[in-house]
Amino acid sequence: MLKKQDGILIFVLLIIAAAFFFGYRLWNRESPEEVVVYVGEQEYARFPIKEDREFLIETEKGTNRLILKDGKADVTEASCPDKICVHQSPISETGETIVCMPNRVIVTVEQASQKGIENKS
Ligand SMILES: [Zn+2]
Repeated sequence: MLKKQDGILIFVLLIIAAAFFFGYRLWNRESPEEVVVYVGEQEYARFPIKEDREFLIETEKGTNRLILKDGKADVTEASCPDKICVHQSPISETGETIVCMPNRVIVTVEQASQKGIENKS
């Protein structure tokens, strides 16, 4: 009898844990994401990923054209010789990056969380 109750308790706890896990994931996905452009070590620009726009990244080394469309960020043109950044796939998930080594440009997707608020204050 006791064993059976323990089993039910564990089962219920698992259900609750799973609900929290998936709830968190869902919440996490729905929180706004931002496209952040770094040049060297410096943050250069930051945009909500959901807003379509075209943006020219101008550095000492050259330029990269960044296109935001349909919730994805892509580098479509660049002055760099290797064009690796241009050939990289569009990014849309947190943590994905497009890197242009010659221009020292990094385009990445970040959660629009405390970090952005800290920077603004
Ligand atoms: Zn490049």
